[in-house]
Amino acid sequence: MANCQILWNNVLNVVKSSTNEAIFKSFFSVVHPLSYDDNKFIIKVDSPLVADWIKQKYFSIIEDTLSKSAGENIQLLIQCEGIQEEIITSNTISPGKKKKIHVTNLNPNFLFNNFVIGNSNQMAHAAAYASGQNPGHAYNPLFIYGGVGLGKTHLMQAIGHAAIAKNKDLKVLYISSEKFLNQYIDAIQNNTSAKFRNYYRSNVDILLVDDIQFLSKKVGTQEEFFHTFNALHNEGKQIVMTSDKSPKELKGIESRLVNRFEWGMIVDIQSPDFETRVAIIHKKLEQYGQIFDEDVCFYLANKIRNDVRKIEGAIIKLLGYASIKNEPISLEMAKECLKDYVSSHIVTLDFIQKSVSEFFALNDTDLKSNKRPKSIAYPRQLAMYLCRNMTNSSLTEIAQSFGGKDHTTVLYACRKIEKKKTEDEITKQQLLTLEKKIIDNIQMM
Ligand code: ADP
Ligand code: MG
Repeated sequence: MANCQILWNNVLNVVKSSTNEAIFKSFFSVVHPLSYDDNKFIIKVDSPLVADWIKQKYFSIIEDTLSKSAGENIQLLIQCEGIQEEIITSNTISPGKKKKIHVTNLNPNFLFNNFVIGNSNQMAHAAAYASGQNPGHAYNPLFIYGGVGLGKTHLMQAIGHAAIAKNKDLKVLYISSEKFLNQYIDAIQNNTSAKFRNYYRSNVDILLVDDIQFLSKKVGTQEEFFHTFNALHNEGKQIVMTSDKSPKELKGIESRLVNRFEWGMIVDIQSPDFETRVAIIHKKLEQYGQIFDEDVCFYLANKIRNDVRKIEGAIIKLLGYASIKNEPISLEMAKECLKDYVSSHIVTLDFIQKSVSEFFALNDTDLKSNKRPKSIAYPRQLAMYLCRNMTNSSLTEIAQSFGGKDHTTVLYACRKIEKKKTEDEITKQQLLTLEKKIIDNIQMM
């Protein structure tokens, strides 16, 4: 588990890049990480003023960075003058002021402007965009589904931001279905069901319910949600939901509710392809005010393929690593720093050889032969180089797989390609194309 101080350093790096240095120093110097346990991260703040300021300006970015760095959802708690206080960003009461301030609980970064559109999410983006422009009318409800870390929450919240930008009086409520469930249980326990019901049915113009799959088998909460849904929908209020599965595939959800989910528009998000991943990396770096060399971007995009949150986690980790080492970020540093981010698919020697043979239209046996013409020797060297860089196999193992050659042949090939890569644009491009091809094909297996 990541250490409290390391996680906090990551937060400081991210915040620093988006804040004026004087403000950063004066405010963040009085904030200290206290503990990280059971998905809760507690920070201690010396002054109520700073606590308030963090709540309003930095709460989401801190929570977000912590979650990405740790690879799990983290809840941020602020302890001020000995009182531990859970910050729920919606309708938070400022300490000392006892006055309600109406802030939305949307993550300020989850805007359409910060969302990279690719083949994998184009439809979802278009539907979400239309809903944000014309809430309650374009697609209602809008149901977005797809795997973890692919941008569902981002798109959903972007709808809220866009709608508020057009009409600042709109009341947008973002809630995870897990929280909806807990609030419902609390309401029953405290005999405040009527208040709960009333809050959702009359206090919300746009309801964003995240990860609806959590309601599976929670019959009572589903019933409550069903009525909330109907009440809001009848009044033309926009409802957006996300889930890890399509409504049809959802298990343990009542059919009348599934039927409601299917009333409007259903869109899915797929894993981004290589180009989109690179574009996302560029976008994130732009937000952090950072630049990486292209080979580092490509390395990241190749290494982490189907979870954008993990890509962000890797960027943050790398930025933190570089700042601790106080060295510029290089490909070597990225490899060293991210060596634990093991790809979920194993690239084999055989697979690389097949991909290279296919690329150069060679016979299956050519790479393993001793044939010397350049049309075969050069692809063989490229293949050896890729085997060395994309697998953990030893030189001897690689040499064996090329028809029982000597390990010095592999070493020679690797050195030669390494050099050629820096001098010759064609070789560089061929390597990038081959790496992408190998990784994309492995992913599809
Ligand atoms: P999900 O809800 O699908 O699990 P999130 O919406 O929380 O995923 O996205 C995870 C992270 O990846 C967020 O920080 C989000 O900003 C980022 N992200 C995902 N897709 C994109 C994209 N297409 N462009 C920019 N950032 C993205
Ligand atoms: Mg989400």
